[in-house]
Amino acid sequence: LDNLGADGAPARLGIMGGTFDPIHIGHLACAEQVREAYGLDAVVFIPAGSPVFKRDRDVTPADDRLAMCRLATESNPAFDVSAMEIKRGGDTYTVDTLRELRAHYPDNVELVFITGADAVAKIFRWHESEAVAGLARFVAVTRPGYTLNDEMRATFEKSPFTVDFLEVTGLSVSSSDLRRRVSEGKSIRYLTMSRVRDYVCEHGLYRKER
Ligand code: ATP
Ligand code: MG
Repeated sequence: LDNLGADGAPARLGIMGGTFDPIHIGHLACAEQVREAYGLDAVVFIPAGSPVFKRDRDVTPADDRLAMCRLATESNPAFDVSAMEIKRGGDTYTVDTLRELRAHYPDNVELVFITGADAVAKIFRWHESEAVAGLARFVAVTRPGYTLNDEMRATFEKSPFTVDFLEVTGLSVSSSDLRRRVSEGKSIRYLTMSRVRDYVCEHGLYRKER
């Protein structure tokens, strides 16, 4: 992805931020469907180093979450994974990530930040949210259990954010559900890529005794 936009032609980079603890089919299908709908040249998955909204629980070590993202995305040539938020250290703020990406790519590369319906409702609370709004456009995808309605659309229209809504295949799957299933000794087969499932098993992630 390093030379995206180097030829001067317009390009679009999708950014999928998250904790990915672990990555699952909900993340993958939504990234793929946004890629297709918006003609994105690539989507980069960026696991958060130290997510500020998840301080209330023990997040799995970043290296494991990163490894699982790599395993899950390697079969899609349009998907990539970046360790930039993990390498940066300290609390993870999207504004820093977007500034880094903006500085790296030429102006003909448009940054498209992808979020689910739950996450987009919180963007006004993000660190330096006005700056975030100026750095990327947003695509909010539907997610079962969360609403994207006209009232939200109106709120975004009055704000500095540019947010499009996109309906994607409804997959009522979450990382929380996968973690709980593993801790209860239940199967996560078909809820994530088989390589991720193997990784979880081999590294004993999400088991109660850990
Ligand atoms: P957790 O249950 O731990 O919060 P999660 O499944 O919500 O995990 P995150 O890493 O928190 O996954 O989410 C990363 C991004 O992916 C967020 O923008 C979130 O809204 C989106 N997302 C996650 N799961 C889905 C899904 N099933 N459908 C649509 N979007 C999703
Ligand atoms: Mg979440």
